[in-house]
Amino acid sequence: MEYAKFDIIEVAKSLGIRFSPVQKNPVEFTAQCPFCGDKKYHLGLNHEKEQFHCFRCSEKGNSVSLYAKIRGLSNKEAYKELKNGFYAQIPIPLAEEPDMPIRSLKERHNVYYDFLELLHLNKKHYQNLANRGLNFSEIRRFKYRSIPTDAKFRRRVLDELSRRYDLDGIPGFYRDETGKMQMYYKSCGGIFIPVCNYEGYIQGLQMRLDIPKGSDEKKFRWFSSKNFNGGTGAKSWVHVVGDTTQKEAWITEGALKADISCALSNGRLFIAVPGVNAVKMLNDVLDTLEITKVYEVFDMDKRSKPEVKQALLALRRLLDEKGIKYSGCTWDENLKGFDDYCLAKTKEISQLLAA
Ligand SMILES: [Zn+2]
Repeated sequence: MEYAKFDIIEVAKSLGIRFSPVQKNPVEFTAQCPFCGDKKYHLGLNHEKEQFHCFRCSEKGNSVSLYAKIRGLSNKEAYKELKNGFYAQIPIPLAEEPDMPIRSLKERHNVYYDFLELLHLNKKHYQNLANRGLNFSEIRRFKYRSIPTDAKFRRRVLDELSRRYDLDGIPGFYRDETGKMQMYYKSCGGIFIPVCNYEGYIQGLQMRLDIPKGSDEKKFRWFSSKNFNGGTGAKSWVHVVGDTTQKEAWITEGALKADISCALSNGRLFIAVPGVNAVKMLNDVLDTLEITKVYEVFDMDKRSKPEVKQALLALRRLLDEKGIKYSGCTWDENLKGFDDYCLAKTKEISQLLAA
């Protein structure tokens, strides 16, 4: 039987384990061992192997046994809870070393804009985006880039960017023990997706990671350097794309999905929350854009999940309070996201035109 794997760093953070403010690299992390009263970061956590080991008390194991030991559960119970995503809902206590204060929107925009300009989009990622229905100019306009997995290239980009900007307090960047600027990345690589506000400023970057098939690891995550020296965490930014003079908006989950849906629907206004549970972040955007009607287009496959039902109710309550009209949209369940639906529609129409 194939077992699901869980990100040991995420699991440890959700359990309140305190990480050293200085991290050597994105694979080997050090933290305070929760089993022996250690204060000097003797606990080593390996992100790739999903293993932990304390050099003080010799406690060791994987993400499941770590969760089980701290929560007082059997490994079987722990596995079940992790599989159900319980750990993500445990509030994360503040790290002992506070993060750098996050830099302003304009500062972040300037850094991320130049950062993306220095990066490339590889063929595989371009093809992936094209298969989703985006054309060459749209892919360029949305500024998608491949996460740099080549160490030398990454170093060149970081050196160039550090020459132009102070990167402390920009989510995703941090300093190593020598004070040199580093960036968060995963060796599997993936695509950077800019998350923009209603004026088009880049607030932060989301990563769509090339997680191997069959792995339970999260595909989408923020470009963030929380708990790293000089680093800071990303916020749950809301992404806006399309015609912002429109008073009707389409609400979905995830910036990439919103971009594609917008491109395939002649530039309609799309607002994307980073996750269904982040609907409360919509408040300001709805006010600023003076939205009067909202079409909800969350993924079809998730709607039966209780947490999604809850989130949809919360969305309706928020809209009711604001006097905004609401319309829930459904479509063929075989097409997961609204972007898939738009793509299928576009293909249908072009087939009709060709006939
Ligand atoms: Zn220990």
